[in-house]
Amino acid sequence: MTIQHNPNDLSHVIEADRAHIWHHLLQHKALETTDPRIIVEGKGIRVWDAAGREFLDAVSGGVWTVNVGYGRESIADAVRDQLVKMNYFAAAAGSIPGSLFAEMLLDKMPGLSRVYWANSGSEANEKVFKMVRQISARHHKGLKSKILYRERDYHGTTIGVLAACGQPQRAEQYGPFPTGFVEVPHCLEYRAQWDLTGEAYGRRAADAIEEVILREGPETVGLLCLEPITAGGGVITPPPGYWERVQEICAKYEILLHIDEVVCGLGRTGTWFGYQNYGVKPDFVTMAKGLASGYAAISACVTSERVFEMFKDDPSDPMSYFRDISTFGGCAAGPAAAIENMRIIENEKLLENTVKMGERLMGNLQALKDKHAVIGDVRGLGLFQGAELVADRATKEPVNEKLAAAVVAEAGARGVIIGVTNRSLPGLNNTLCLSPALIATPDDIDEITEAIDGALTKVFG
Ligand code: PLP
Repeated sequence: MTIQHNPNDLSHVIEADRAHIWHHLLQHKALETTDPRIIVEGKGIRVWDAAGREFLDAVSGGVWTVNVGYGRESIADAVRDQLVKMNYFAAAAGSIPGSLFAEMLLDKMPGLSRVYWANSGSEANEKVFKMVRQISARHHKGLKSKILYRERDYHGTTIGVLAACGQPQRAEQYGPFPTGFVEVPHCLEYRAQWDLTGEAYGRRAADAIEEVILREGPETVGLLCLEPITAGGGVITPPPGYWERVQEICAKYEILLHIDEVVCGLGRTGTWFGYQNYGVKPDFVTMAKGLASGYAAISACVTSERVFEMFKDDPSDPMSYFRDISTFGGCAAGPAAAIENMRIIENEKLLENTVKMGERLMGNLQALKDKHAVIGDVRGLGLFQGAELVADRATKEPVNEKLAAAVVAEAGARGVIIGVTNRSLPGLNNTLCLSPALIATPDDIDEITEAIDGALTKVFG
């Protein structure tokens, strides 16, 4: 039987979706009584769904991805031209856009010099873990193999990276996990574990990492993996003093530092990378989402020459090189899109816009906090911000996650798509997440916060 498609009849698309698609992160029972959300078009910061409804997308494609906005013909053209000329060859060989983009990228990342391609954030992080395990095997007699990760951080969805997941609800039901992954405490001052504030709190939270290292034995720890600003774990900006102390600790115990820039990378916080706000010198940086703004699937693991050199020290040993492959982590369409994406960020001065619009967004959120007692804390940097909702400001008791979800639904009813921490931390899925495209205008920012204002009034009075 030939299936006939009528491009104007989206009711068929909705039925085909309902019949055949297993959506990410969705309890499908709900779709027995409601239609699946199908997004059919995007332009700038706005998207349209199958029913023709228009939304301002304040979460860049749902998950902090479409940094330069929708409908960019120059990226589509670059991808098309590359696909016609040379669509694919395994990444043991090079490609023209791969080399050119690596050069552009490393120009923004002083101190780092090598790019390893992959095709998702999870995969790029997994590459780092494999590199560290191989460094341990070859240079530390297998001893320095432990990987430290932080409570509330997330590094991806596959079993390997879920072993490094600081969000228990994401890992729950998917074990057993590989061994050698150890958690260090979070650094969210709003939910402080020590009776300290500001820089004293920041240094103490970093000292807690040192305590874990000493407990485990520094000779067994190979890597510390951190998000520069925790994303899905509640938009946690590190307190002052934190990163300086983290860097000292890594140097003291010869532990490699891996910054997961999958969310913050490519301008989200107003600098090319989140770590550059804090003067950190990482050994590994991974990136994905905004690298090509969702116009092609591409991720990368960037390392220092010191790390790279450890994989070519003994060419006579057939097992000395990094014995890893990724079929699609070398698709030439990825770097072709990434080159154009980076040009747009530069030509349109989107880093500068992100700083300015980020200040406006923070100002608006602070004003909402003054108005709505349910907002306990607002935090973030650039166009990456969150508002934590509490039932009681004094006790900081989180609001029920159903109420936080109701705020998201009400904002949607007002034409603005916002996010919320989602089934990640038991009892703490209460932070609204905002990450509009870096092209956002003052009017867009005001429209976002007006929708949240209306939604909070509707849900909490
Ligand atoms: N790292 C962080 C900080 C993330 O937020 C995510 C996804 O949200 C990932 C890694 C995983 O990226 P991907 O979904 O591309 O595998």
